[in-house]
Formats: sequence, C-alpha cells, structure tokens
Amino acid sequence: MKEKNDLYIEHLKGMVQIPTVSSADPDKTRVDDFKALHAYLEKAYPLVHQHLEKEVWGKAALVFHWKGTGKSKNLPLLLIAHQDVVPEGDHAMWKYPPFSGHVDEEGIMWGRGTTDCKCHIQAELDAVEQLLSEGFTPSCDIYLAFGYNEEIMGGPGAACQIVADEFKARGIQFGMVIDEGPGVSMVDGVPVAIIRTCEKGYADHEFYVDDKGGHAAMPPEHNALGKLGEAMWTLEENPMPLKLCAPVIEMMKAQADSTPGRLGELYRDPEANWEELKELCAKTPSLNTYVRTTTTPTMAKGSDQANILPEHASIVTNSRLLPGDTLDDLMAHFKAVLPDYVGVRLIKGHNAPKISSTESVGYRLICKITEDLNPGVKFVPAMVYGGTDSRYYCDLTPTDSVYRYGGGIQSPRSGGAHAVNEHIDATTLYGEVEFFVRVCREYGDAE
Ligand SMILES: [Zn+2]
Repeated sequence: MKEKNDLYIEHLKGMVQIPTVSSADPDKTRVDDFKALHAYLEKAYPLVHQHLEKEVWGKAALVFHWKGTGKSKNLPLLLIAHQDVVPEGDHAMWKYPPFSGHVDEEGIMWGRGTTDCKCHIQAELDAVEQLLSEGFTPSCDIYLAFGYNEEIMGGPGAACQIVADEFKARGIQFGMVIDEGPGVSMVDGVPVAIIRTCEKGYADHEFYVDDKGGHAAMPPEHNALGKLGEAMWTLEENPMPLKLCAPVIEMMKAQADSTPGRLGELYRDPEANWEELKELCAKTPSLNTYVRTTTTPTMAKGSDQANILPEHASIVTNSRLLPGDTLDDLMAHFKAVLPDYVGVRLIKGHNAPKISSTESVGYRLICKITEDLNPGVKFVPAMVYGGTDSRYYCDLTPTDSVYRYGGGIQSPRSGGAHAVNEHIDATTLYGEVEFFVRVCREYGDAE
C-alpha cells in the first residue's frame, strides 16, 4: 500500500478541509458540512459507493453495508469512526489554517481532525476501496458506520445510539467492532501495540445547597456556596475506593519491563503488590484514573452579583467510572460522605460498557495481523479513560469483541488531538490501510 500513500494523503486532506465541527447544541450542528463530507467521499471512493449499500441515519450518520458471500460462520464485522471534530480554537495560534490539511516539507499534515479521527475513516474506506479494486468479496457481511457527535459524548441525540438502535431493529449483531484507537509505536526499539479493550463510564452531577440569601454585608458564618465548597473538599478527601480491574492488571503486566523504578517492579504482579502499588497510584493523577472512579468539581455557580448572598448555590462535578462501579454505587457514595443539607442529582451519565475479551476470534486476528506487520510486537490491552462511540455497540456484540485500535503506525511525529496545531505524520498513512485490508480480507475465515 506504501506506493499509494500520496493518494491516501489526498483523501485525508480532502476530508480535513470540510469543517465537520460538532456543537454541544444539536440544533447548531451544521448538517450541510456533513453532507459536503458525504459528497466528497462519494467522489474519493467510487468503488465503495458502487458496490456497498449506503444509508444516512439520524442527521448525518453514514452507514455502509458490504454484502458478503455468506460462507463465513462469523457474525458481521463493523468498522467505525466519527466524522465530527472538536472546534478548532484560536486560528491565530495555528501554524497553518486549521482546515487546510496543509502538508509541510517534513511530510506532516496539519489540521483539525487529522488524528482525531478522520485518519481512521480514510484508512477504513481506502482499505475497502483497495479490496474492491482487486475484485475481492468478503465471506461475511462488513459494515462501516461513521457517527457525527462523538466529541460531545453523543449529547442528547447520540448518533451512535440511533445507529445501534437501527441495527438492533434490523436484527443485526456483530462478531467484532473496531473503533478509533492507537496503532503500533516503538518503545525502546520494540514495537508496542496498545489495544483498548474497555473504557470508563461517565457522569455529570449537580450538587446544591439552598439558603436564605440576603445582603453580602451581613453574611452568616457559612453561606450556601461556602457549604458547597466544604462539601467538594469532603468529596476530594473521600474518593471512591481504589480497585484493580482485569484489563488494568493486564496493562500493568505488559508495561512492567518498560516502566522504570519501583513501579515497574510492582507492575510485574499488581495483585500481589497491590498494597504498595495503590499508594503510588493514588498520588499520581495519570495512574489514579486507572484504579478508581474519579470525581472532580468543574463548574460553580452562586448568586448573580458580588454583593448578593446566594439563595441557591450549585457545583457540577465530572466523574469517570471504573468498570464494575455503577452510577448507583456512585450516588450511594456521595450520600454516605456528604451532609444531608447538600442535594445531589445526576445530570447525565452511563456506566462503563462491558470489558472486551482478549481470547475472542477477533482479538486473535488483530494480534496475528499486527504480528505479521510488526514482527516481535508486544501487546498491551488497555482501558480508555475518556469515552468513545464504541460503547453503543457493546450490547450488539455477543462475543464481547469491541476494540479501540487503529492497527497502523503510531508515529511520534503525530499529535495535538483536541489542541491547536493538531497534526499527523502523513508519510505513514499506508500502515493503517494495510491493517484494515488484512482485517477485511481475513476476518470472515478467522477462527
Ligand atoms: Zn475521536
């Protein structure tokens, strides 16, 4: 595929130039931009549009169905990614315009959506286009589904909920789902593949205290906002308990050799070393997130004016739930540690989806292909601490085979997702196309 890399660059550039920004207010989503993207894809991928059945679900979710010969005993394969991108931020801070897809002399492409995650749409579609050009027909059905509001956590009208519901209504289940994720990177000269097998749940809560209010010149000892501040301090001091879940154990073991110092030693057997390990993890935010359900206050509101005591004060928190901890557990925890005068309500949230299997047909196939393409590769199953669209499909996948994995070359020259100056190493785009060509070609016969 390497010889076609310039074509992949053209395709990705064309996608980046269409500003499919998702807005937190669904009414503000510019559907026309998504339609422009659909029109562009139709031009860029003629064989896909000729041979696959295309449908648009919800406002702009793009769903393709590649009918197989029916000879496979595996359930259909679903490849997903999201069309939307986060807002581009301050144009003045970008090295090149954010929707230019400019490729510099070093082969770096700049623009919003280059890494998150139009590169995955490009790789998946280029893989299918390639196979069609070879006259290939898969032995089982293959679907592609591209949502349009992943970056706002689906919002009130989650595209992928609509898509998942439609698949369910049609009685379609999947043997494997692959969503956006990292590829293979080099760590101390050894190729390492991070395959994300689960993700944390998500919750926003509102905490509130009602009070008398009045003139700020005659305040009580503690007013509503002060009481809430103390409540937040209490929450920080009394987090949910630390615990080890299966994918984190596997992740730590796989990272033991490449982790320096005492931490690396403890990672060799996280369960046996748990007492010491948990102390270390709790002190480091980037590790703490893997071993407990976190909650942190993010927005506060008191009265509308500086000299008015708040009659109603509120603080919003953001929580990320470990697999196994539920929204009910979290609410019970809040009630147990906070005084009665603090009210709490769930604004929105969902439990962590099921943990995917590392023994399924799909997982074995991903590993085999990755190994062929990167001899000597080490696999690290991992947990996503953010959230992806893939959670909507977990219940449609009876084999628990939902993986967030790109399979391509994770270049150290790519980066900046969600920040200004997002960019991708465009010289390596062929790697992910190669991976998806093999997945589509081999999945039907995998066992
Ligand atoms: Zn993304």
